[in-house]
Amino acid sequence: MIKIAVYPGSFDPVTYGHLDIARRATNIFARLIIAVTSNQSKKTLFTITERVEMLKVVTRQMPKIEVISFEGLLVEFVMEQQAKVIIRGLRAVSDFEYELQLALMNRKLENAVDTVFLMPAEPYTYLSSSVVKEIVSKGGKAAEFVPPLIEQKLRQKFSLTKK
Ligand code: ADP
Repeated sequence: MIKIAVYPGSFDPVTYGHLDIARRATNIFARLIIAVTSNQSKKTLFTITERVEMLKVVTRQMPKIEVISFEGLLVEFVMEQQAKVIIRGLRAVSDFEYELQLALMNRKLENAVDTVFLMPAEPYTYLSSSVVKEIVSKGGKAAEFVPPLIEQKLRQKFSLTKK
């Protein structure tokens, strides 16, 4: 019955944790729209164009996925896309409180939209974009956490590209 789901986030940058959630969502829904937030209040390392482009490249082999940037209210975007489901990833109990508040607020704003939480594979439960940025900025390797293209882009951002 429910065919389209929206997976929103800042994806600054996309990690294997995000991709794990996206893959699980495509096993349930016919189409998944990855909605990249161009929220001005949140300072990001990558621009909205860069984040969308990177996601498009790394999801190229996943035909059910579409990547779109959006501004404004998430529930309005979800309704515009003819979707009724928001996908969010839950890593640990620490994610829960914030995610519960967000899900209930979104429901309050639009009762027709529900949030579905998916848990990543165990190795990704401690993975976040911020941790990856921290590691790469200090010269560490991120091959286990992000696709090669993303690691390369991170190195370029931190001017750590190999000579
Ligand atoms: P936001 O700023 O909206 O939290 P993120 O890009 O950090 O954007 O996260 C988007 C969604 O992906 C959130 O639901 C977050 O919990 C989930 N997520 C991020 N990293 C992981 C991970 N390693 N495993 C599972 N879910 C994750």
